[in-house]
Amino acid sequence: MARDSPSCTVPYVPRTYRRTESTLCTFWTSPREAGEHLRHLRSWTVDAARFLSETLGFRPTRRLHVVSFQTNEEARRFLGREVPPTMALAPYAGDTHCLVAVQSADADARNDDPQRMRGILVHEIAHQLIAEKTGSTKRLGDANRLVRCSTWLNEGLAELLRFHFLRDMTRIEDTRAEFERAQDALTWRDVDHLLDDLDGGRRAAAFVRATGAVAWVAQDAGVAALFECLPAVDGAVVPSSVCAVSALRRARELLSLLERRRTDP
Ligand SMILES: [Zn+2]
Repeated sequence: MARDSPSCTVPYVPRTYRRTESTLCTFWTSPREAGEHLRHLRSWTVDAARFLSETLGFRPTRRLHVVSFQTNEEARRFLGREVPPTMALAPYAGDTHCLVAVQSADADARNDDPQRMRGILVHEIAHQLIAEKTGSTKRLGDANRLVRCSTWLNEGLAELLRFHFLRDMTRIEDTRAEFERAQDALTWRDVDHLLDDLDGGRRAAAFVRATGAVAWVAQDAGVAALFECLPAVDGAVVPSSVCAVSALRRARELLSLLERRRTDP
């Protein structure tokens, strides 16, 4: 692991932070950070990235950067917005580089929980793989104008991959069953808006809905097939229709058909 400290061209990274290179990714940590934190962060990131590349069969070419803000004050200052001390996010996706931001144990002790952090890294790195796969770019606060994947599909797939990583099959079945039972009049566009509102009180419920929907679509063909066919699935769902099973039948049939063609041409 080589270490030097030239300033970073990726946005949101403090100029004073130290760069540590590995084959998989570039880490940015505060010079005041305990060395142990970097070792943990590196091992969690390797676990998360390996899981994703094995599960999805995808090798990204965009260079992954991971910044760990030492304090919540630094996270807020460099991201230019309020963020809870346990929050992680994927604030930047460019054509050649992308960034995942986490906070260290100094911001909140829960940021030192290995299983929690591995799961979070799976979710955030998944967003970066989805961005690359769909030719999307983004910057925090740009209203996802250049993201070519609906938010429900993007968040639902990232969260479903986190559950798979944690081997939490009960949670996958529960969210899918909850989606099947949903009776309200929320549209896919409504769910996208609830998810895009980082401070909104209904965001957690929207996550469950989106994850259940993605689990329902991928039930037969699997998550790798869904990742491979994201634009087709996205295009088969009408944003103004009600977020329910009826609107997803075409997408699931299409996904199964594409998967059969892909694996048995
Ligand atoms: Zn997310």
